[in-house]
Amino acid sequence: LIQLYIPLNFLGVLYREVKQSITDLDKMFKLLEREREVQDPPGAQDLQVRGGAVRFENVRFAYDPARPILHDLSFEIPAGKTVAVVGASGAGKSTLARLLYRFYDVSEAGGGRITIDGQDIRAVTQDSLRRAIGIVPQDTVLFNDTVGYNIGYGRTGATQEEIEAAARAAHIHSFIAAQPKGYETTVGERGLKLSGGEKQRIAIARTLLKNPPILIFDEATSALDSANERAIQAELKSAAEGRTTLVIAHRLSTVVDAHEILVMEAGRVVERGHHEALLAQGGRYARMWTLQHRSEAAPVVL
Ligand code: ATP
Repeated sequence: LIQLYIPLNFLGVLYREVKQSITDLDKMFKLLEREREVQDPPGAQDLQVRGGAVRFENVRFAYDPARPILHDLSFEIPAGKTVAVVGASGAGKSTLARLLYRFYDVSEAGGGRITIDGQDIRAVTQDSLRRAIGIVPQDTVLFNDTVGYNIGYGRTGATQEEIEAAARAAHIHSFIAAQPKGYETTVGERGLKLSGGEKQRIAIARTLLKNPPILIFDEATSALDSANERAIQAELKSAAEGRTTLVIAHRLSTVVDAHEILVMEAGRVVERGHHEALLAQGGRYARMWTLQHRSEAAPVVL
């Protein structure tokens, strides 16, 4: 259950179908409470995704009103493009992802808004919003169920062929096929233990199966070995193709191709631009880059 405890923020969407994996009722109630923090307005319509352009407009947010976390933050991810967010731990990067998925709403008075193709995400049904967004979280939640179930969870009614195709695309199929029980292998706390990289691949496969127009990738903070890391990055890149993607990056190698990189510090964007432009600027990003290249596989430490 420790594994389930860490990514609580990403669990909200999963609770309806959580089967035997959550036995701890207290945690379950916490999840339900979190769900109640955001509500569909009466008569909410479904989100209509055209290209999937995401805009944060003057967003302010605080978990606790006494401690503002995001201060007047604006950026756009044009349809089909990738924006990467980097910055020190606690800068507010994951908070952006939580707001886009509506685990929380922007502050009520003057808190700005988040739109997808021009629609305020608070005005549309949560179901339609969450159908449009796929998340590959830092710590993937695996149900104590078969690996096939864990991937198939991405889309109700997916066939075995579709599950395998997604696993192939995420480069986890051969690993699964090599297990004596194949896709029937039980994973999770009570089954086969998987490495961080294998779990992220399952999350990528699950997301590919869901096939959402918008993707959030919250890169793991813990360093994978460099071969694994390069492979995951390549898989992410192909998953992001043609989707509007928000990458919360801990390694700068992930962000070099991004349409725009946002460098965050204490809830503000302090630098923004393309990789080359930011390097040329010789500021914070350039210093992070130099530091990271001194210790190749290490996460960004500021
Ligand atoms: P990291 O790189 O370590 O994941 P981050 O930049 O993603 O960090 P966030 O997780 O967005 O940072 O957190 C921003 C700030 O909000 C931090 O100071 C954190 O302590 C605070 N915070 C995060 N989640 C909550 C919460 N559920 N309740 C109260 N404060 C929170």
